[in-house]
Amino acid sequence: VTPAPTDPFAELNPAQQDAVRHGLGDQAADTRPLLVIAGAGSGKTNTLAHRVANLILHGADPQRILLLTFSRRAAVEMERRVASVMGRVLKASQSSASFAASLPTTPLPALPWSGTFHSVGARLLREYALRIGLDETFTIHDRSDSEDLLGLVRHDLNLSATKNRFPQKGTCLSIYSRVVNTQGSLADVLASTFTWCAAWETELKALFRGYVEAKQTQNVLDYDDLLLFWAEMVTEPVLAAELGNRFDHVLVDEYQDTNRLQAAILLGMKPDGAGVTVVGDDAQSIYAFRGATVRNILDFPNQFGGVGQDGQDGQAGQAGQGGKVARIVTLERNYRSTQPILEASNAVIAQARECYAKTLWTNKMSSMKPQLVLVPDEADEARWVAERVLAHREAGLRLKSQAVLFRTSSHSAAVELELTRRGIPFVKFGGLKFLEATHVKDMLAILRFAQNPRGRLAGMRVTQLIPGIGAVTAARFLDAMAQSTEPQAVLDSFEPPGGAKLEWQAFVSLYRGLRHPQLAWPADISLAKQWYLPHLERLHDDADVRRADIENLERIASGYASTERFLTDLTLDPPDATSDQSGAPYRDEDYMVLSTIHSAKGQEWKAVFVLRAVDGCIPSDLGTGNSADIEEERRLLYVAMTRARDYLHVMQPHRFYLTQQRTSGDRHVYALRTRFITAAMLPRFERISWPSASPGTPGRMQPTGAVMQVRERVGAAWR
Ligand code: ATP
Ligand code: MG
Repeated sequence: VTPAPTDPFAELNPAQQDAVRHGLGDQAADTRPLLVIAGAGSGKTNTLAHRVANLILHGADPQRILLLTFSRRAAVEMERRVASVMGRVLKASQSSASFAASLPTTPLPALPWSGTFHSVGARLLREYALRIGLDETFTIHDRSDSEDLLGLVRHDLNLSATKNRFPQKGTCLSIYSRVVNTQGSLADVLASTFTWCAAWETELKALFRGYVEAKQTQNVLDYDDLLLFWAEMVTEPVLAAELGNRFDHVLVDEYQDTNRLQAAILLGMKPDGAGVTVVGDDAQSIYAFRGATVRNILDFPNQFGGVGQDGQDGQAGQAGQGGKVARIVTLERNYRSTQPILEASNAVIAQARECYAKTLWTNKMSSMKPQLVLVPDEADEARWVAERVLAHREAGLRLKSQAVLFRTSSHSAAVELELTRRGIPFVKFGGLKFLEATHVKDMLAILRFAQNPRGRLAGMRVTQLIPGIGAVTAARFLDAMAQSTEPQAVLDSFEPPGGAKLEWQAFVSLYRGLRHPQLAWPADISLAKQWYLPHLERLHDDADVRRADIENLERIASGYASTERFLTDLTLDPPDATSDQSGAPYRDEDYMVLSTIHSAKGQEWKAVFVLRAVDGCIPSDLGTGNSADIEEERRLLYVAMTRARDYLHVMQPHRFYLTQQRTSGDRHVYALRTRFITAAMLPRFERISWPSASPGTPGRMQPTGAVMQVRERVGAAWR
């Protein structure tokens, strides 16, 4: 007797199975597009992976499946999941010869067409290049290349930023990119998002025209072009049909964070919606700031045409004129988080202004509430986190199942240093690593140069910060420096190009100051900062944000006894353990993840630490412009909290350093708990105060009244 083949999807719940089986087998007549909309941790991504496996089990050619994910990492993870489902199916089928025979011959197929919209777009464009008037050898510019090209065009058009305060190239690129991705008009984008550049509309238009031409003559595509050209392609009926026909199935994860171009691509390729599956959660839409729109997921049900049967599930609302209503599947069981974590997260999102009510429940009972940890400042926050990480590890939680999440890259500086100090390896995702950021490197280079004026790397870096000094002059100076035993003399007698004389004098004084025997560390860093800040302001539009990093560095420095120690410690920061994006250097080694919340999307860890859950950080200062921004910040906190499986630690530093907008300067602020965790929600948390208040430190008591501000205008004279 051959046992019946095990159902490969038996462990999925009924709703998940619906999604996995939609339009397949006995439902083959149902060609409606499929939308899976559900809350965090309900198995959307998992279901998508099972669906891909099921498509292949039903004979779909893996070459004709297009799987679009949010990041390269997510694509890799998805392929792993598909392969694992297929592997399990195979194993189960070993008990049944006939079932095994019915399986496709390549049981663990690679999915050649999985990746981000951008990476898939690049491949398709390369293939179709000649037919759409592109040279197939086109170069793809990354963001910094694109900025540089824009800078060149701007120069040619005589729109220099320094002379007439025209927006800087980074800002110009952001404006351009936003226009492309939202498919809006320049005027609208300026009016809604870049109001301070609105006066330059005509010039910007000319600049972008020049930029597009330059890309064309140089046979270059930028990041946005990868979507734009693809979207253009599907407006050509012949090409659209060809593209659509080469994929039987198009599946998209995290659909709530796609932009208009991406929706246009999907619709253009599959106008009748057959074979289309998208999954997402409107409550987790966090990329509006980059042009994504939650409308895509909300409009999805009624957007497709064609002659298929109409929707029967009812939730879809009115069908478009003669259109096909999508099949909608909602998932309600959360498999990720414990009950207390889920309840706290649900409470946060329930307050959302626009909330498409979803039910989420879990079987994962626990007596451990999420913790809300009140600490005096960010140094204590870092210490508490490091100690808790080690305690978790003692208790058997690998570092890999723990993550530290934060709103902005610079928020993790203290934690990075604390982990490094204690030898806890980590990788950081999202944004530049604090110590790799240009401006932090600049600051360190100043200190290094003063320490060892023969150090060529630091020297080149520092001298070229001086306006009027380029690589040639810098090299000439450093050559002279290398041949002399009297650095000060070389500095004093060096002849910079005419226009750079004054600035050079300032630099010479800086050097003299830093070398002064009576200068006691950490005054060095304040001195370096005083010299550097004006350059920072001149070089970067977002100097405000960057200045926060410099302040961070200064405070970190104050914990050290000497320049030497400080620089050594930071240099020894093991580059392996902190290397970025490309993935961990040693796969088997245990390391924890530090990530911006934005980059943590879709992932989960047993223990999650959320840094700085205070007003001014979450919601961020920059995000308080209007109520739509605030709502996005709330969803951001929801995304952060819902990454946790068993332990959630929400940090609330009582005081932290805040860099304000240009006008108000920097200050130490007493922070208030994030407005998204209201007083009514407090019982859902275990509240911890650490270290417990000691009578000797009255300064660490709760502030009375509203926000008290203690000014520490270090270097205020410079502004
Ligand atoms: P997010 O909204 O954060 O992207 P998601 O809805 O995509 O979450 P998944 O990441 O797919 O959720 O799943 C969350 C967790 O639940 C994963 O660990 C997954 O393996 C597990 N899971 C999903 N479905 C089931 C199931 N039927 N049985 C057991 N575990 C499941
Ligand atoms: Mg997911």
